[in-house]
Amino acid sequence: MRCGLPAGFWSTPDSGQPSRLRHPAPPATESTCQHVFTTHPDLPYGDVTKHNSRNSHIRLSQHPERTDSVIEHQPAPDAIVVGGGIIGCTLAYELQKRKINTLLLEHGKIGREASWATAGIMGPPSAAGLPLHRAALAEISHKLFPALLESVEEDGGVPSSYLPIGKVLIARTEDEVELAQAQINWQINHGIDATWIEPDEVRQLEPMIPHDILGAFYSADGGTLTGHRWTESVAAAFQAIGGQIRERCPAVSILTDGERVTGVDTPDGPISTRTVVLSAGAWTRFLGPAIERSLPLIPFKGQMIGVLPESAADRPRHVIGKITGGYLVPRIDGSVAVGASLEDIGFDKRVTAFGLEYAMELMQSLGPGLRNAEVVSTWAGLRPGTADDTPLMGPVPGYDGLWVSTGHHRTGIQLAPGSAVLVADAIATGKPDELLEHFSLERFS
Ligand SMILES: Cc1cc2nc3c(=O)[nH]c(=O)nc-3n(C[C@H](O)[C@H](O)[C@H](O)COP(=O)(O)OP(=O)(O)OC[C@H]3O[C@@H](n4cnc5c(N)ncnc54)[C@H](O)[C@@H]3O)c2cc1C
Repeated sequence: MRCGLPAGFWSTPDSGQPSRLRHPAPPATESTCQHVFTTHPDLPYGDVTKHNSRNSHIRLSQHPERTDSVIEHQPAPDAIVVGGGIIGCTLAYELQKRKINTLLLEHGKIGREASWATAGIMGPPSAAGLPLHRAALAEISHKLFPALLESVEEDGGVPSSYLPIGKVLIARTEDEVELAQAQINWQINHGIDATWIEPDEVRQLEPMIPHDILGAFYSADGGTLTGHRWTESVAAAFQAIGGQIRERCPAVSILTDGERVTGVDTPDGPISTRTVVLSAGAWTRFLGPAIERSLPLIPFKGQMIGVLPESAADRPRHVIGKITGGYLVPRIDGSVAVGASLEDIGFDKRVTAFGLEYAMELMQSLGPGLRNAEVVSTWAGLRPGTADDTPLMGPVPGYDGLWVSTGHHRTGIQLAPGSAVLVADAIATGKPDELLEHFSLERFS
């Protein structure tokens, strides 16, 4: 049985209009799905503006050459992961490591949505005050990251872009000092380096920080990644160990026989498999009607700007942030990413005056010395959020062989290592870890 999608599936809910393509449509005579993934050179800044087109999906029509035969794929994959952001790529890599032959389907290009727009801050989670299960996922991910980094670079041979520079998070009010102390205590209790530093020490570490502060949280642990580069590195590692990737090849339907998942339908035809994982970020919700249930993802927009400091001396040496959020993030290409806003306004990726104003205020507040830096890029992305700010991970109730892993909202880059291992282990062994129960889709039934 093919679970059909409702009319207008590929239009975005806010506009109801077909959205624009960020990449040119392939000629009608060629297969839509690209069977080979190669890592892309860094996007020139000129391309950044193209990334800001309002919407992000095309309205699908039947492919002119489609024969409805199963796409040639010998042997049929053991598993299909839908969505080539950091969550889907890391999961596909972990499945392949467990000898589960995996095919990754990506609607556009690998790592070009939230995982592209990300600030890429890695490291000890801001876990003080979080529910225990979310803190546990963050802690597991933090512990797994160094080994993942090593194996990705070794398997794929593509540098990760990771800068292990630590972070300085400033406090300006007594409430913020309390928040910083709680975070420091949490990290120390979990064996993760963190300390409180007084204003003089802050300025020794980061001369650009203004004087009106009460002190700062400091941890040498953690750093930053350039999101699309990291996602591509993981995808390259996945491919290097035998995984398959098809870009410009969206899942348009989930195929089932009764409650048993039997495959995925694509514009080029159906692909058989017995395990499907939905990791399509904020767009996962559009796959809900195909399985007649709600996949309640909420797109939370984040806008950022990239600036190039006048000289290396003007560049932050660490990730600098407010303890309440908002960051200056040094990147491997010498630029500094500033942001990010948090907006609940649907599938809208325009860069707006509000987003620019937010970033400018942040820069003024954290590093006024950057006021002469050149603004070299602006962008917006859609974080996959949920109503209770908790990822959705585990089996989809009512289906045999259907899984979900998405909804990582503001910390998907940080949480990808643990999420991938938990879901891959559950699929490989058939015995989900108890921790996964807290992330079950069942809570929205
Ligand atoms: C501005 C901003 C700053 C952020 N900063 C941080 C940070 O500092 N640290 C951190 O940890 N996190 C951060 N995040 C959050 C993090 O980037 C996200 O949580 C993470 O990238 C989500 O990854 P994903 O793979 O779930 O989604 P995405 O990266 O959006 O990937 C989903 C993929 O699925 C594809 N897709 C959609 N529909 C289909 C379909 N039907 N078939 C096939 N493919 C499909 C899409 O094209 C896309 O490539 C930030 C996010 C933003 C926007």
